[in-house]
Amino acid sequence: MLWSLLKIVLFVVVVAVATVATGLLIDTGDAVRISYGGWEFTLGPLQAFIVGVLALVLVWLFIKAVGLLFAVLRFLNGDETAISRYFDRNRAARGYQALSDGMLALASGEGRLALIKAQRAAGYLDQPELTNLLIAQAAEVAGDTKKAEVAYKAMLAEPRTRFVGIRGLLQQKLAQGDRETALKLAEKAFAMKPRHTETQNTLLKLQSESADWKGARATLDAQRKSGALPKDVFKRRDAVMALQEAKGVVDEDASIEAREAAIAANRLSPDLIPAAVMAARSYLQKREKKNAARVLKKAWDAQPHPDIAAAFAEIEPEETPAQRVKRFRLLTTIHPENPETQQLQAELLIAAEDFPAARRAIGDLPVKHPTQRALAIMAAVERGEGSDDATVRAWLAKALTSPRGPQWCCDKCQAIHATWGPICENCGGFDTLSWREPVEVSGPSATGAELMSLYIAGPKSPLSEVDAESSSSEDSSAR
Ligand SMILES: [Zn+2]
Repeated sequence: MLWSLLKIVLFVVVVAVATVATGLLIDTGDAVRISYGGWEFTLGPLQAFIVGVLALVLVWLFIKAVGLLFAVLRFLNGDETAISRYFDRNRAARGYQALSDGMLALASGEGRLALIKAQRAAGYLDQPELTNLLIAQAAEVAGDTKKAEVAYKAMLAEPRTRFVGIRGLLQQKLAQGDRETALKLAEKAFAMKPRHTETQNTLLKLQSESADWKGARATLDAQRKSGALPKDVFKRRDAVMALQEAKGVVDEDASIEAREAAIAANRLSPDLIPAAVMAARSYLQKREKKNAARVLKKAWDAQPHPDIAAAFAEIEPEETPAQRVKRFRLLTTIHPENPETQQLQAELLIAAEDFPAARRAIGDLPVKHPTQRALAIMAAVERGEGSDDATVRAWLAKALTSPRGPQWCCDKCQAIHATWGPICENCGGFDTLSWREPVEVSGPSATGAELMSLYIAGPKSPLSEVDAESSSSEDSSAR
């Protein structure tokens, strides 16, 4: 206290001297003469300069002293940490120095040095969110997983650093192969930051590996909503998840033989068709036409289906109808008696304008199991063979009131879909579509579609009466 007062007095003296000296220096030009209280000094320019520097040092000392003085005054007023804080400022400076040294060491890959600096910084600084992070990362680089884990765990306490701590622990568990704990950590991290892309990907992978499809699809949806996934990629991934039963078929890394085995193993699975079509399209994208054809052939062998035929047509989009008939023999020779094969063959032959062959291909299907598709094929055959309009119209009229044949139907709400998808567009049910004949509504329809057959066929048609009879009997058989 006394010392500070002394310093203040000293400072006042120095300032006074400096002021006077400057004035004199200006006055005399070459020498400074100072007289004070009976004393008189004469200073040359060099001496004046030294006095000036001394004055500056004293000013600096004075500022320091005033800071300490105020700390002391606050201490006397009851602020017990005032003096220690004054000295802490020096500690902080040293702490930040150690911190920056540690960061530089970390950036240059010197894990051990970074760890030493980080621990020193932690000793000086009371900023665990900074120092713990540096300690954890330095320990990782140095290969000291134990120390890193301790640092990450310490970060969980602070809300600002909790996410970083969880993420660090998650990476550690992944590296150790502890998938169970990793999944729990990933779920926590995802709950904190659902838009964090890396967390989304990690969580999705862990959920898929543990066959948590519901969770995985929720994560996938979050990914789509945050804009991390383009819509078509989302749709494909979602479909792959929905197709878990036939997973081996869709697996991008599987060999063609493994996929064929998966198709054979899933021949009764409702997932088989979409899975095989998806696998074939992924081969087509890679221009592997042969493998695409192999997958589809195997799938047709398991379950003949129009979606397989459509994908098979995509293999050679430019071919002529005649070439197509020839190439499709790969499929049409497998189950020649199957209605699906019969109709496919007839449609291909109609496109190639070989109507008598198409008539042979469809056989008695329009009579045995008349569906809209089979009857439309018959109408096309009649037109192609040059039958009169009445005959063609009679087939079409009959088609109007006939059952639709197998469709992708939702098992929950019965909605019919043109193409397979993992989610029912009507009720939002997941994985509810199956390939079957839709549930037909019995009785005459409100729009009177049954009467349409009479209008279209016309009164002169010899078939109209027969049509009306047979279509009512078909309705009852479909019920
Ligand atoms: Zn539905």
